[in-house]
Amino acid sequence: MIRPGATLGVLGGGQLGLLFALSARRAGFRTIVLDPDPQAPAMACADRTIVARYDDTAALLRLSESCQAVTTEFENVPAASLEFLAARGVVRPSALPVAICQDRIREKTFLSEHGFQTAPFIVVAGGDRPAPETIVPLLPGILKTSREGYDGKGQWPIATIEDLFSVTDTLAGPFVLEKKLDLERELSLVIARGADGETALYPVSENFHERGVLHLSAIPADIPLEVSGKIRMIGEAIAQALDYTGVMAVEYFLDKSGRLFVNEMAPRPHNSGHYTIDACVASQFDQQVRSLCGLPLASPRLLSPCSMGNLLGDLWPDEALPDFSPILSEPRAKLTLYGKNSPRPGRKMGHFTVLGETLRESTDLSQAILTRLYQNVSALPSGKGVPVEKKPVPR
Ligand code: ADP
Ligand code: MG
Repeated sequence: MIRPGATLGVLGGGQLGLLFALSARRAGFRTIVLDPDPQAPAMACADRTIVARYDDTAALLRLSESCQAVTTEFENVPAASLEFLAARGVVRPSALPVAICQDRIREKTFLSEHGFQTAPFIVVAGGDRPAPETIVPLLPGILKTSREGYDGKGQWPIATIEDLFSVTDTLAGPFVLEKKLDLERELSLVIARGADGETALYPVSENFHERGVLHLSAIPADIPLEVSGKIRMIGEAIAQALDYTGVMAVEYFLDKSGRLFVNEMAPRPHNSGHYTIDACVASQFDQQVRSLCGLPLASPRLLSPCSMGNLLGDLWPDEALPDFSPILSEPRAKLTLYGKNSPRPGRKMGHFTVLGETLRESTDLSQAILTRLYQNVSALPSGKGVPVEKKPVPR
């Protein structure tokens, strides 16, 4: 068991690293952050920093010698780096689950081999031209790069065989071509799992995206108990099958005919779980600290229905600070900013949480805030918040 006073290392200094470092600090731990970017958000509140690439052996050695345990916030840390660190100390999550989650081919193969339903898919190598009869059943489809895609990047809508070849003939790949599902809802689950197999499951979140980026999450998702029960059962079984220690998230699709699919997994805390900081007994980052240290997990219990809106770089006109008064003037809302310097469209700069008496009250308020924030931003196609409507769930 690693106790307060110890130093915890984290690979990656983005907002997830920042929020981890804040939780660690509050629990009495010191932190050391490794990231190639000296301006990375977590650098501002870490006790020590190492500015280096994730595969810099000398830097990894320095990290390992400076802390009692290492975790990761950056999904694409080379698995070899985690193995290198694991040979020298505690690393959670371990290299194998991270390697599976960071590669869509391994991820989808793992899921289907373990009996978890995913959207139908095939693997396509760059330059490869699969037979039409394997492609046609997947149309219309979505082509996704196997590695390094995020926030909808590295994805192409595929309507025809020609669409497919126009990408796979020119880019190296490899890719996954998956069938485009007729989505009713997008849902996610954050799971904390200790080294002893103890788990803490958060409530299911319903997620709304704009141009591939998470825009709004609503918690607890307004779905029948049997659907949330199934989501929790599947999530726990996945974490167990991965022999996972740490915090992870599973994204799900519910289609119009009520079928549930696993979309993807993240071997780290998740954007849709940021509400846990303001609305749960213990946050996903508190659990990351605890599972890393071998401490008992805390309660994931939700204290209030809530919703969370993302603040994207689109809101930062000409790099000036946006007017946050729609959030600050609402007493039920809490604002979190990540302290990033260069706001780019689509870049996650912060988020807000609204705690409400009811889910409806909270999402209505979040939507009103998003509408006011985004009303002068022409960059978003809709120019407004995502409508959160009461949708009947097919059974
Ligand atoms: P990312 O790593 O960018 O989050 P995802 O695989 O989660 O990649 O895809 C991003 C978004 O694209 C999803 O949240 C969903 O809205 C949409 N999407 C992805 N795959 C499918 C699919 N098979 N059918 C329908 N929509 C999809
Ligand atoms: Mg996703």
